[in-house]
Amino acid sequence: MNIVILGQQGSGKGTQAKLLAKKFKLDHFDTGKALRQIAAMDTDLGKEVYEIIMVRKELVPSRILREVLHIRLNDLGRKQGVVFDGVPRNVEQVAYFELALKEFGRKIDRVIFVDISSEESLKRIGKRFSCENCKEALICEEDNDAPVCPKCLGKLLQRADDTEEGIKKRLNIFEEETIPVIKYFEKNNLVSRINGEKNVEEVFEDIIKAL
Ligand SMILES: [Zn+2]
Repeated sequence: MNIVILGQQGSGKGTQAKLLAKKFKLDHFDTGKALRQIAAMDTDLGKEVYEIIMVRKELVPSRILREVLHIRLNDLGRKQGVVFDGVPRNVEQVAYFELALKEFGRKIDRVIFVDISSEESLKRIGKRFSCENCKEALICEEDNDAPVCPKCLGKLLQRADDTEEGIKKRLNIFEEETIPVIKYFEKNNLVSRINGEKNVEEVFEDIIKAL
């Protein structure tokens, strides 16, 4: 089973991908994590990815995504299912993605779109903090001017790009670049649109029903 899971920031798709991986013993291909692993390697590709994501802080071109997919799929048994988390994120990547899968005799069985409204995304991401000291990530419910970490009393900070403006910018990119990917897969009847505004367990149940 090969599943693609897509969703706006704050949709909880990463959490759902982990749950799916656990339940069906799938390999969890988290694109960001896979790129960071490659970037740590002392290879030509590793150095190139490091330069792009750590130094220039840009998105990797599609050919690199294909190479990274290739390396990962090459390491997996042919029968090992995968949940692809956050890829392909634009139409250009779809072609590379499908080609990489085809090379390994794989096809996409289902695309799960965990959908939340812009309002919900803003609400959820706006509450995301991390501790300056122990790096603990947490959600802050109350309005508080100087929130502190419950573990070590360190200062809690929001991610620099988790401002309303930053979140809206990323939502626009999703709308302009990733929605066309979902529309493309819809033409092949592969998409299950899941309401992501319920709690984690309910969303997971809905995903299981859709598979
Ligand atoms: Zn802390």
